[in-house]
Amino acid sequence: SISLKGVTKIFGGKKAANQITFDVADREFLVLLGPSGCGKSTLLRMLAGLEQVTSGEVHVGARRVDTLPPSARDMAFVFQSYALYPHMTVRRNITFPLIMREHRWWFHLPLIGGIAKRRIEQTPAVRDLVERTARTLALTEMLDQYPRTLSGGQRQRVALGRAMVRQPDVFLMDEPLSNLDAKLRTSMRAEIIKLHREVGGTFVYVTHDQIEAMTMGTRIALMRDGVVQQFGTPREIYTDPANTFVARFIGTPP
Ligand code: ATP
Ligand code: MG
Repeated sequence: SISLKGVTKIFGGKKAANQITFDVADREFLVLLGPSGCGKSTLLRMLAGLEQVTSGEVHVGARRVDTLPPSARDMAFVFQSYALYPHMTVRRNITFPLIMREHRWWFHLPLIGGIAKRRIEQTPAVRDLVERTARTLALTEMLDQYPRTLSGGQRQRVALGRAMVRQPDVFLMDEPLSNLDAKLRTSMRAEIIKLHREVGGTFVYVTHDQIEAMTMGTRIALMRDGVVQQFGTPREIYTDPANTFVARFIGTPP
């Protein structure tokens, strides 16, 4: 579970996140929804540790994490621009977080570094995990290809795979589908819902798309100007909007 207590972020006098307090249960799929500039990414980046909180606390389970570096938080992330490594195969891209986990400075050296990385990649436990992940994402046929030979949806799945192999308790996703065309977006939504069902874990998913939020979220935090306007299930938000902003944004009939 994730617990936010009065989380606030001030950028040059402006509050990008203002006293945000809510709890996300284990296995929940929380959607952070709201118009451009409302503070969704800022909030997600604070959860991840890519942005320091100005004040407030973030807890994961019994652990306070807002003072920890990103690598100590046991969270994996997927961004909108799925930055794959172009010079690495799909297999190496997916394996990469596991290689980094055992990283030594000499991994950078061309010859022995390459051997060391290959050795980790060939460890049965690692191979197994990577191949299972690829199967889940229908990427088995593409493990030896390079990113440039993949479609947008396939690349996005590789990015998901890279998050999955870390087997984190928490998945953070910031508009991971916004670069895809409408058709792919629909199928990837289903893909992510399936992933959530299969791997469990807590998901926090950022979007400005109401339909994505309503169809994917177990609950939604709808934000405006750094403030959470309403926190509830899609049904609650639709049938009982807290204010006119919520009603308009969601499109509840008057
Ligand atoms: P979008 O849907 O466009 O991605 P968002 O909801 O993710 O928007 P944020 O990126 O969190 O919005 O930005 C919230 C506010 O904080 C905006 O006013 C933005 O200009 C400001 N902001 C974000 N990052 C910084 C930064 N590094 N320095 C200064 N201001 C920032
Ligand atoms: Mg954003």
